[in-house]
Amino acid sequence: MENARCEQCGSEVNFPVLTAKDRDWGSGDTFSLVKCSRCGLVYVNPRPAETEMGKYYPPENWGRAKNGTAEQDAVINGAHWSVSSAERAAVILPLAGKGSILDVGCGDGFFLLYLSRLGWDCHGVEPGETAAAYARETLGLDVRTGTLLTTRYEEASFDVVSFHHVFEHLREPKATLREVRKLLKAGGYLVVSVPNFDSVDRKLFGSGWVGLKLPQHLFQYTSATLRRMLEDAGFAFCSVAYRSYEAKSTMYYSESLRYCLRDIGLYPPAPPVNAPTAPPVPASSDWRGVLHFFERGLFKGIGCVADALHIGSTMTMVMRNVKGL
Ligand SMILES: [Zn+2]
Repeated sequence: MENARCEQCGSEVNFPVLTAKDRDWGSGDTFSLVKCSRCGLVYVNPRPAETEMGKYYPPENWGRAKNGTAEQDAVINGAHWSVSSAERAAVILPLAGKGSILDVGCGDGFFLLYLSRLGWDCHGVEPGETAAAYARETLGLDVRTGTLLTTRYEEASFDVVSFHHVFEHLREPKATLREVRKLLKAGGYLVVSVPNFDSVDRKLFGSGWVGLKLPQHLFQYTSATLRRMLEDAGFAFCSVAYRSYEAKSTMYYSESLRYCLRDIGLYPPAPPVNAPTAPPVPASSDWRGVLHFFERGLFKGIGCVADALHIGSTMTMVMRNVKGL
């Protein structure tokens, strides 16, 4: 473990916000979030050293890639991949006609596949070799294995650079933003989607909020702290939109509720991470069917209201590279 300074302002003065455990990989380790006393950025401190992070990112982290899922069978957020990808693309399509995009942390690449079929020039970079190889070999995409800081692209070559639930994982977000600025054309757009630390569900579920994902999410952003970091890197603010459900999933509410119910013994424990996939239990076969009904109805309704009030589960910020315009 190592102590971190505030990435935004360099201050070492902070105060504790909350403590939560690693829920994904069963390490049993507990981590603390602190808030910078000077600028308000929330981050994990102390945090695992870079060499320790592999413990919290087991290598086979991408089910579809690991299982070699066929394109027609791929499901994202409870819906066919093209439905989920169309929702995400709705933010990007108006920005640049049939432009060029670099998706950073593109995973198995289904979003890029969607844009490529609309005529976009698509490129991706992904640190997970299993997912990157699947994107290249099964989906036929130009995806390189690595991070933005370990991969070289031609300067001023993209209309859009996107980070979809990736930016909060970055150990060096400011250095990454400097690289993005080089790679974007003049007038190009940066699109960043992250969990919203100011969301009503984060305040409701506390340390059981799924958006915490400690310690993989090294930073927790609000619209104010994210905008400040992106503006300080030289980008001009365009818009921010909030979203509490994607495709058929209200994950931030339903998974957080499951975490909290598990903590008090009212929901079965999660299966071991490396257990073979069990056949799905029909949702209507026990009382959990009631929970699933609420997920589909009540949570979506609450989420719509929260999004309109700018306290939705996730936020997508669009910024522009105005240098050279
Ligand atoms: Zn600070």
